[in-house]
Amino acid sequence: MAEGPFSHLAQTLRGAAPAIEPPTRANVSLLPPVFQFSQNSLQDYADCARRFQLRYVLGQRWPAAVSEPIGEYEEHTERGAHFHTMVRRYYLGLLDDPAPPEDAVLRQWWQAFIETPPEGLSESIRLPEMEFSVPLAGQRLLARFDLLTIDPGERIVIVDWKTTQHRTARHILERRLQTLVYRYVATKAAGHLFGGTIAPEQVSMVYWFAIDPLNTEVFTYSEYEHEQARQELNGIIREIEQRGQAEPTSPWPLTEDEARCRFCEYRSLCRRDVPPGSVGESLIEGDSGGFDFDLDEIDEIAF
Ligand code: SF4
Repeated sequence: MAEGPFSHLAQTLRGAAPAIEPPTRANVSLLPPVFQFSQNSLQDYADCARRFQLRYVLGQRWPAAVSEPIGEYEEHTERGAHFHTMVRRYYLGLLDDPAPPEDAVLRQWWQAFIETPPEGLSESIRLPEMEFSVPLAGQRLLARFDLLTIDPGERIVIVDWKTTQHRTARHILERRLQTLVYRYVATKAAGHLFGGTIAPEQVSMVYWFAIDPLNTEVFTYSEYEHEQARQELNGIIREIEQRGQAEPTSPWPLTEDEARCRFCEYRSLCRRDVPPGSVGESLIEGDSGGFDFDLDEIDEIAF
């Protein structure tokens, strides 16, 4: 396979530890077919261009923990992964009468899910952990949905499980690229499950919080928002490509918001003199970083 700016990512996905090499003009001009943009990679770029460059272009891996204490961070990551697995198995019909989890927090989340699942979901089809990718700006845009529920010909509801310690404010979710990417990809890609073309107005997204299961956040969608999303996502991908061409060997701009560096594994590389964020603090999932388990990150978590 030809080498490209994302070839280290391809290696990462195959499990090989990539060597870090300075990019050259030749190897930033092509994206290998294996790379797909996602809400995570686009959010990384939106938060800090240098983070995107280090993570996806150079394949730099984890010089520091995202937050501390490390054990607590790993514990929360594993707990989030476990919860997602239990919910997936539940919707696949593989968990008829599960024993309550031993872990007290996980038990609490599971109880919240069983007793107070999100309301108003489509009834006919429920598909946990679905993955779609669609073409955009000459690239592929990938979305991994925690749950898609579908009434063919009528509506699609996207569900995302949030296992943060604090409920995320609506205005933050509204700005996160996840909300944009998931509704966009579902509208473009899920037609064959839907029984035909989907209008954006037939798509909605629900965030369900394990810590506050009664109070979901629901985002509807519209033709206008769909076109806005297309333009915004297209613009970010184009900007990344242009930066790759224009600045193949120099560091891409570091974020001016140093609060973001507190929850970034590259803070020592960037010589940002900020203390690492704590797990409890980062779980607030604020606007300046934040931490939550996400399906998109499964391939990138290296524990
Ligand atoms: S430490 Fe800060 S400047 Fe460096 S990549 Fe991370 S967010 Fe960007």
